[in-house]
Amino acid sequence: MTSGRATLDATRAALREGSTTVERVTEGFLGAIGAGARLNAFLDVFHDQAMEQARRVDRKLAAGGAGPLAGMVVAVKDVLCMEGVKTTCASKILENFVSPYDATAVARLKAADAVLIGKTNMDEFAMGSSTENSAFGPVKNPVDESKVPGGSSGGSCVAVAAGMAHAALGTDTGGSIRQPAAFCGVVGLKPTYGRVSRYGLVALSSSFDVIGPFASCVRDAARVLSVIAGEDPRDATSAEVPVPAYEEFLTNDVRGMTIGLPAEAFAEGLAPEIRAAVDTCADALRAGGADVREVRLPHSSATISAYYILMTAEASSNLARYDGARYGHRSAGARELSAMYTRSRSEGFGAETKRRIMLGTYVLSAGYYDAYYLKAQQVRTLILRDYHDAFDAVDVVAMPTSPTPPFTIGEKTGDPLQMYLADVFTVSANLAGLPAISIPCGLTTPVSSKPDTGGGGLPIGLQLTGRPFDESMLLRVADAYERDTEWWKQQPPIAR
Ligand code: GLN
Repeated sequence: MTSGRATLDATRAALREGSTTVERVTEGFLGAIGAGARLNAFLDVFHDQAMEQARRVDRKLAAGGAGPLAGMVVAVKDVLCMEGVKTTCASKILENFVSPYDATAVARLKAADAVLIGKTNMDEFAMGSSTENSAFGPVKNPVDESKVPGGSSGGSCVAVAAGMAHAALGTDTGGSIRQPAAFCGVVGLKPTYGRVSRYGLVALSSSFDVIGPFASCVRDAARVLSVIAGEDPRDATSAEVPVPAYEEFLTNDVRGMTIGLPAEAFAEGLAPEIRAAVDTCADALRAGGADVREVRLPHSSATISAYYILMTAEASSNLARYDGARYGHRSAGARELSAMYTRSRSEGFGAETKRRIMLGTYVLSAGYYDAYYLKAQQVRTLILRDYHDAFDAVDVVAMPTSPTPPFTIGEKTGDPLQMYLADVFTVSANLAGLPAISIPCGLTTPVSSKPDTGGGGLPIGLQLTGRPFDESMLLRVADAYERDTEWWKQQPPIAR
């Protein structure tokens, strides 16, 4: 049997005709979470609270005045604070940390009458591209369980891909929403930096981090973004830019739009099947009336180096707060203060986190600051300029989300540099602070004969990047493409 990936429209239609209730829908998702427990997508499931909230929403729907996400069930990456429940960031160091308040994005979901179903597994502190760096075990790709789901928001992505929630919140610092979305065949949207408040988001790299939705269709991603976006007095970097009604831009029309394919993204190293899928996709957009042409992003080859220098620099400073003194793990064995700091951090952090703290501290150190950190900041400006120039000529830049299909669990864990290269197409949007979305655009040639995967292939994602705060344009193109194709309907097999 297959799982049902759910859209809010389908649920709402069933609610309207009286064939279900939000309570029953929530119960169904809880059942799917139980049945798919081996995928390890969730770190905490809110059985009672979710059912209670579902009944509350049913009452509101009956009485009138229900919020814009009434009927929607949402999972939340465990890097976002939620009052009264654990926020572990998939790290031993925060294993028993209970958040005293809600992140703004979480509070807005609650206020919109979403049912929050649980906290999802992730790479420790959102560091990774495969969700193998969790202190609580790796997450599996529901399309092929020998493969990684991508990372770092792998649990949130799998929750949607395996029919365990309508939508989920992830975070994207260098690709952690888009890359897993591509690997599991769902929609993943990284908003413009500052579009969504970071209040209550445990920081990885403060000048990159953005919260955004996973969903099984573009419309549901638009719905979630409408609710979580917008200025927040609690986050000085949240932008004072009005939030459009994103759903109104889903007009199924790309006529007159210009879409740029960066020559640099189609060079060596791109898997042939991915190139073929993106080429076919470009043809479909052309057939829909878009003007598709080549653009240049000349500094593309420097993006990974610049990202990993700046991200580790910021991460090393953000993670300095975990010292065993205020919250989180404190080593039991230490007799004096500096040993307590050292031991608490040595015991609490995993290998990748330690690696990045060391790298980040190094690039910020007095003798190397100019050579690495400062240089990388200059490269960041060049990358931003590349995009500005490209957007003089086109409305949207399109390229693959990932250079390869989902890789095998364990394949890259021994070689961090190979793992970092999985982000080669995603980090530039974070360096430039731009909005970007990944949507399903095909499957690789069948690797098995599983009938329910649309032939047994692995998902391929198309990435669209837009001008700052122009999420509407991305959603419009993505929605039009989605309606023209069947990829988003492909469902992974979940044994019951
Ligand atoms: N894979 C990238 C990294 O490891 C991106 C992480 C993220 O977006 N949180 O840093």
